[in-house]
Amino acid sequence: MPIQTVNPYTNKVVKTFEELTDDQLERKIAKAHKTYQSWRNTPLEARARLLQKVAELMREKKAELSRLITLEMGKLIAQSEAEIEMCASVYDYYAKNAAEFLKDRPMKVDSGKAFVRLTSTGIVLAVEPWNYPFNQVARLAAPNIVGGNVVVLKHASNVPQCAAMIEKLFKQAGAPDGVFTNLRIAAKRVAKLAEDQRITGMSLTGSEAAGASFAEAAGRNIKKSVLELGGSDAFIVLDDADIDLAVEKAIAGRFNNMGQACTSSKRLIVMEAVANTFLQKFKSKIENLKVGDPMDRAAQIGPLSSEEAAKKVVQQVTESVKQGAKILVGGKRIDRQGAFMEFTILTGIKPGMVAYDEEIFGPVASFYRVKTEQQAIELANATRFGLGGSVFSKDVERAVRVANQIDTGMVFINKNVASQPDLPFGGTKYSGYGRELSALGMEEFMNRKLIYVP
Ligand code: NDP
Repeated sequence: MPIQTVNPYTNKVVKTFEELTDDQLERKIAKAHKTYQSWRNTPLEARARLLQKVAELMREKKAELSRLITLEMGKLIAQSEAEIEMCASVYDYYAKNAAEFLKDRPMKVDSGKAFVRLTSTGIVLAVEPWNYPFNQVARLAAPNIVGGNVVVLKHASNVPQCAAMIEKLFKQAGAPDGVFTNLRIAAKRVAKLAEDQRITGMSLTGSEAAGASFAEAAGRNIKKSVLELGGSDAFIVLDDADIDLAVEKAIAGRFNNMGQACTSSKRLIVMEAVANTFLQKFKSKIENLKVGDPMDRAAQIGPLSSEEAAKKVVQQVTESVKQGAKILVGGKRIDRQGAFMEFTILTGIKPGMVAYDEEIFGPVASFYRVKTEQQAIELANATRFGLGGSVFSKDVERAVRVANQIDTGMVFINKNVASQPDLPFGGTKYSGYGRELSALGMEEFMNRKLIYVP
């Protein structure tokens, strides 16, 4: 895959970039390693100030950064702005809370004194996707950099300008060279980096296939890895739910970012008693939306991230229909230039169909009716994925009881799943392992070092 900015609104190549040569790559890793030796000993207050400065710069340059996201992966401009705000809040959050998270943890021991201290480990390699090109990086960079690690980034090939901009922001914020380094390399060169002893931790957000080969390379080299992979989150609406609220959150959950989020509400599972009302309201909200240039604030439907992405999603829909699923709305490409497709609702989905078995990474809601709460739970769990999920009910205790039986890393009650700095984010099963954000995200690539004084 060439490293290129291709505007998905026009499908035109805007700019192509050269990969780093092996020599250039080595120099960057050597620099990161050298910087790590001093960064690990830089006072925590100074490391926190750097993150604060990055957050300030992001807010100052919000318009420019948002336009870059929209140019490279097609996100509606207001949602790009929201991403930049969220991202700044992640840097702020770790700047504010790192001292607390890094406090020594005294141990109860029979004799002497013991405590666990979180210490840095070295260079953390982040492989990140295009869907939230700034925020995915922040979730890994903020806790590690404030913790004394340094970060090297291999970003997705279709967001090279966002990747370069993040490095520039760190420099402008005063980071020494090597604290945050953008590596413009192809995916096939990542496995070799895993062999490098200077790299001590590896994190990937992306597809299952990429995650499996990444974790294999990490494992061969006895390296800790974190994987944030796909999801097929269930959005359960119980018979006593506030239907208007559920519809509003389902629209955001499924169609924000054109449905291209690991935690999108991909499967709407609604109890029979409220299914018709829910479906009719849900459907009416996605008809007659304005399709247009994602830079134009009036547009409500923009392009997907690329022509290939749009083709793949439409093909998954077409295949599911051949297998017997029904299209209630949408299902096709939109007849215009760019990576556009219609907002879509599929019904009549059965096991064995593509829409049942695969993750659909685009604006397609799979709608299921169930008779009982138990059926809702069983269907929610009938997937290889285990990332997030939502349960809607006016009875919070009941919703929590249902949440407890869903095999995922996160369940939100009366809300679509969303990433926020103070909540741990991550999955189970084929959605990956490890956590980002909150105090848990701080620990993944730190050494939990025991210090014992007899
Ligand atoms: P990929 O998993 O292919 O890409 C994600 C990142 O991993 C990119 O930086 C990519 O680099 C890199 N990568 C790809 N293969 C390897 C590898 N073997 N070793 C190391 N790094 C690798 O995602 P796509 O963009 O192709 O999207 C495909 C699917 O991935 C989606 O349909 C969705 O299911 C899932 N996905 C999940 C995301 C999430 O948030 N969890 C985000 C994006 C995608 P390069 O771009 O150079 O190939």
